[in-house]
Amino acid sequence: MTLLAGKTVVIMGVANRRSIAWAVAESARRLGAHLIFTYRSERAGEQLRKLCADALPDMEPHIVQCDVNDDVSIEQAFSEIGRYTDRIDGLVHSIAHARVEDLQGEFVQTSRDGFWFAHSTSAYSLVAVSRAARPLLKEGSSIVTMSYLGAERAVPNYNVMGVAKAALESAVRYLAADLGPLGIRVNAISAGPIRTLAAKGVRGFNDVLHAVEERSPLKRNVTAKEVGDATAFLVSDLSKGITGEVIHVDGGYHTVGF
Ligand code: NAD
Repeated sequence: MTLLAGKTVVIMGVANRRSIAWAVAESARRLGAHLIFTYRSERAGEQLRKLCADALPDMEPHIVQCDVNDDVSIEQAFSEIGRYTDRIDGLVHSIAHARVEDLQGEFVQTSRDGFWFAHSTSAYSLVAVSRAARPLLKEGSSIVTMSYLGAERAVPNYNVMGVAKAALESAVRYLAADLGPLGIRVNAISAGPIRTLAAKGVRGFNDVLHAVEERSPLKRNVTAKEVGDATAFLVSDLSKGITGEVIHVDGGYHTVGF
């Protein structure tokens, strides 16, 4: 399939094979996109290079270091990407982090520092990378980020990350308003729970998986591939009329009352 043929997509947030960002990469590649990756730590960079060599032998993706908590790192990453290509068609932000002590117990105990850290890494980072990428994002391009139901409801233990996701979803709407006149779209996917490294940090994550299995209309959890495919749709021209939107890929779990 060639839905994304000729498009260059920057994917931020692959930590390992289980990352949602990796599933996005597989979907986008399957649909013909050329991929650029960013990674945070040297260890993640090594893992990513190995993954790409194993799983994407037909292409040599450009791989760039980018710590979204460091403005200089963001600037350098997008300058480097700009030396490699003059055009990005898709930017996928699949990044979040909060202190482990803030993902359990009472939300009311969240420290100022923990609140700031979660918001800086998980919400402000979308604003910062959108700004840095803007010169490369041309008419018809698309930014996609990853959210979760904890933005809308008080999910046990998700705590400060839920508040950061609410900020992220709001940022999607403001960015969509800013960038829409340039023909750049900005959307979020609200993904159902998926076992990944980040999810391991949330206490009681298995209970959340069971609740979705029991109560969602589809009576199962979603797969990373399903989230990857929906992201590819949002990057593609099939979604040209959609911006400022949060699309739930959660088996319908958010629609049921009990
Ligand atoms: P993951 O751990 O595989 O990915 C998180 C990524 O964030 C990692 O690659 C990590 O390196 C990156 N990151 C953290 N701090 C960073 C920094 N300072 N600079 C650059 N990168 C940084 O986990 P995942 O579940 O694939 O998470 C991806 C996104 O999906 C996150 O936004 C997460 O909140 C969201 N999400 C996950 C689930 C789930 O159940 N797994 C559900 C809904 C939404």
